[in-house]
Amino acid sequence: MDLEVVTVGTELLLGFTLDSNAADIARVLSGVGARVVRRTTVGDDAASIRSSVSEALARSGFVIVTGGLGPTRDDITKRAVAELFGAPLDLDEAYLELLRQRFAKLSRGPMPESNRTQAEVPRGAEVLPNPRGTAPGLWLTGESGVAVLLPGIPDEMRRILEREVIPRIERYDPPAQGSDPVVTLSRTLRTTGVSESGLADRIGDLERQLGPVTLAYLPGVEGPDLRLTAWQMPAKQAEAELAKDVDLLLPALGRNVYGEGNVQLAAVLLDELRRKGLKLAVAESCTGGLVGAKLTAVAGSSDVFAGGIVCYSNESKIRDLGVSAETLEQHGAVSREVVRAMVEGVCRRFGTGVGLAITGIAGPGGGTEEKPRGTVWVAAKLGEAVESHKRWFPGEREEVRHRAAQAGMDLVRQMLAE
Ligand code: AMP
Ligand code: MG
Repeated sequence: MDLEVVTVGTELLLGFTLDSNAADIARVLSGVGARVVRRTTVGDDAASIRSSVSEALARSGFVIVTGGLGPTRDDITKRAVAELFGAPLDLDEAYLELLRQRFAKLSRGPMPESNRTQAEVPRGAEVLPNPRGTAPGLWLTGESGVAVLLPGIPDEMRRILEREVIPRIERYDPPAQGSDPVVTLSRTLRTTGVSESGLADRIGDLERQLGPVTLAYLPGVEGPDLRLTAWQMPAKQAEAELAKDVDLLLPALGRNVYGEGNVQLAAVLLDELRRKGLKLAVAESCTGGLVGAKLTAVAGSSDVFAGGIVCYSNESKIRDLGVSAETLEQHGAVSREVVRAMVEGVCRRFGTGVGLAITGIAGPGGGTEEKPRGTVWVAAKLGEAVESHKRWFPGEREEVRHRAAQAGMDLVRQMLAE
């Protein structure tokens, strides 16, 4: 039988304590035909413990972990591994009583409250008694294999290893190999209306709570995608890790997430309109029909997308949308007043309850100090409500146009969600 060892303790990484436990475990186990094939040392940090244990399980299906079972705040191994196994911690009353008695017998006075945590047992785990100390060993069995947790104090560790772990390993029958091949799986969250660094700020410390997965930011004109990847683990475990981490991230990302995988914002928007029985018309100046193209790229959009007007010239804005010449003269074609008149006009024209209008300076020419290239006004109308926003998009002409189309569709989606 092959297995791995994970030793936990910042003192081991710093070199203040020599990792004698890993050596002892390997030596003792080799005597019963069990082979340590890899050892890992991590600090007293939940994310590192979780990822090292889960990676070891993915490779070997059996891991012995020592350290971090004490009563103090830096001792977090049990909680971290229990989380990995999806096992809540239950207070073992019998063990708590045993601890109390032990403190009384040794006339060390009443048991300190902090020792209580040592009587907490991950649900379903077997308790391996520790006659010399307060932290028992634990044998956890889960879908990904077995994790044995042992206290870090070398004497205690060895004793539990010899008395409790070895006999169990001799009886242990590892699950058949090859039944669950390892895979690499990803899930992609699509976001828009937020920058890559804005996303990173929102995710912040959550990143450290992610399981053994990597998180990649993939910027693009449609908005940054977030890709979570679970590397080289059994498919079931990979799916579970990804599901857990997606659930962790979604609340922080809020409405900026519009879908997952290959989903297009246009399709999401059309679905939302359809669900609400609404129809949409669009008035496009600088995007020149891009929104219309994106909407009609989705098959079956005609029941929801009434149509659009590409009003690239002032004449068209006046003639086709009823924008007044004075408004154009006074505020310019790229302005709040004009974009609002455009959205009102297009809804009137098509008789729809929902409208979108976009007018901006895609460049390379046309920019001024007050309205630099990349300045775009978007407006959406839903019933009586009209919302308009001035945005600025970086990039070349094509990029600005695509970003503007995306922002316009997103504004409608956000209004529908309110
Ligand atoms: P812990 O269970 O992490 O609270 O560790 C209790 C004590 O055991 C500390 O003094 C540690 O320095 C020591 N210890 C922890 N892990 C190891 C190890 N792998 N080898 C030797 N000593 C260790
Ligand atoms: Mg420690």
